[in-house]
Amino acid sequence: MFARKWSRRTLWIGAASLVVLLIVAVVLLRSRAGVDVAQVPFSDLLRHLDRGAVTEIVVIGDTLEFKVMSGQAFRTVAPANYVTANAAFVPDLSKKNIRIDVRSAAEPAAYSYGALVLGVGFIAVLGLTLYRVTTGRIPALESKTREADPSESTVTFADVAGVDEAKEEVKEIVDFLREPERFSAIGGRIPKGVLLVGPPGTGKTLLAKSIAGEAKVPFLFASGSDFVEMYAGVGASRIRKLFRDARRHPSCIIFIDELDAVGRSRGGNSLSHEEREQTLNQLLVEMDGFAPNQGIVVIAATNRADILDPALLRPGRFDRQVTVGTPDVKGREQILHIHAKKVALDAEVDLRQIARGTPGFSGAELANLVNEAALFAVRSGRQIVTDYDFDQARDKVLMGAERKSLTMSEHERVTCAYHESGHAVVAALLPHADPLHKVTIIPRGRALGVTMQLPEGDRHTHTREFLEAQIAILMGGRIAEELFLRQMTSGAGNDIERATEIARRMVCEFGMSAALGPLAYRTPGNPWETDKGVGISEATAQRVDDEVREVVMRGYETARQIIAKNRAAVRAMAEELLVVESLDAEGIRAVIANAA
Ligand code: ADP
Ligand code: MG
Ligand code: ZN
Repeated sequence: MFARKWSRRTLWIGAASLVVLLIVAVVLLRSRAGVDVAQVPFSDLLRHLDRGAVTEIVVIGDTLEFKVMSGQAFRTVAPANYVTANAAFVPDLSKKNIRIDVRSAAEPAAYSYGALVLGVGFIAVLGLTLYRVTTGRIPALESKTREADPSESTVTFADVAGVDEAKEEVKEIVDFLREPERFSAIGGRIPKGVLLVGPPGTGKTLLAKSIAGEAKVPFLFASGSDFVEMYAGVGASRIRKLFRDARRHPSCIIFIDELDAVGRSRGGNSLSHEEREQTLNQLLVEMDGFAPNQGIVVIAATNRADILDPALLRPGRFDRQVTVGTPDVKGREQILHIHAKKVALDAEVDLRQIARGTPGFSGAELANLVNEAALFAVRSGRQIVTDYDFDQARDKVLMGAERKSLTMSEHERVTCAYHESGHAVVAALLPHADPLHKVTIIPRGRALGVTMQLPEGDRHTHTREFLEAQIAILMGGRIAEELFLRQMTSGAGNDIERATEIARRMVCEFGMSAALGPLAYRTPGNPWETDKGVGISEATAQRVDDEVREVVMRGYETARQIIAKNRAAVRAMAEELLVVESLDAEGIRAVIANAA
């Protein structure tokens, strides 16, 4: 779909000449070192001469290389001017029938000249390349922006679903791009920059493309990470080039994906900091440089608007923010419809039902789900995609692919069955937990077994009870192992990590600890990069640690009591799992009901 720009010829020529120079240098140096003769004291030469063993001498200034009868060669250094001062030396040698050869002493220096030329050449090429890169003379290095032929921009609004508010907001931009004159006649001001903000995979890139497709204008694509390079100035020159290209069109869209890669707030002292700041400044300069109604609209996407440099969000820059969120159940259904059009669906497949069972899925995950379902159908030799394929695909997307080939020892299987049953029974019996979807001891992804819950509807916030239940469920695995098998295994490591993280966030971010109150505590584990929240003293840090521990231990105690009271249910479920390997929601309910 995207036409690639001219090849990276200049760059290749530069690189090739560097390589050739290097090879020549190596060959020269080696050939010099190849005259591999032993260095011996001068007295050795005199002794060999006395014995009449020398057959050949090469005089190179004060260096004498000589061969003896056995064919061995040696090198020695004569006292200064020995050869020239000692008038009898050369005639004596010839009298002894020794072959004499004299070479100019300057000869070895020829190598140094060679090295010098090579060195200068090397530096010149390097310098020239750098110069041309930084001044943007090498198109190869800066043409990372790809231009789509407007007639080929086939993505339209119909391809984007579940983000109706966002679509509504950008419609105005489409109108403007279609008829810029009409807007300028009225004197309306169109935003120069639009920032699409939302989690990964929600369709930001797709939406930007659809704006270009709807307006039938060229779409210049660049990614923020393209601008972050090792050499200072490269990023800035790429930005210049991007806007230069854009100005060639009567109207067009510049799209900068992952704006946060360049747009992080300035300050800080990372290695590439200088370069990023230059790039960011260049972007600001370019955006200030064109008139609002010039026909260029810059669209950028990010999932971290909070870390962007405030200068980017000022009027005349990205002053319009459009939120692209994860779709709700209706949106998911529409997205599934769009992607299901590409596959042959069984008539009984109910996309609304699938949408209901996939809360929290992004557009990209839904597209992936449809694709995985189609793959399952193909693998089982079916021509159409059925409900069963969607179930399989969802489990794969949610829990990772099954790894039936992984062999577990019998003891590991038993451990895993009790561990997962512990999770499942606690989840089933706690009122504020999400309903169970599946328990399995078939290894999936990196886990040996999985207990999977699925919320009934879309969740946007969590109650304290829900989070506490979550911690208790995570503890259930370890406790079942302790109570039934009298053992602790490393298998609970990830559960413990996750439980601790939930507890930490409850205390430090959600203000859910009675002892510490509704404050945001800045702690080392906190992902915030900004300076939100209160810095804490050592004494408070101690209290935070204590409170986090307290929250986890409460969950542990809750889980321990549930499992101790329902030993029969845990045992029955573990034994069932060892036979059937997987239980769905209904199966779990049946086992627990029978054991009671
Ligand atoms: P983002 O840029 O927000 O990370 P993308 O636009 O790259 O997300 O989405 C990746 C793919 O996922 C798209 O090419 C499309 O196939 C699918 N997709 C994501 N969101 C949507 C949506 N809202 N409607 C339809 N398809 C979507
Ligand atoms: Mg994207
Ligand atoms: Zn576990």
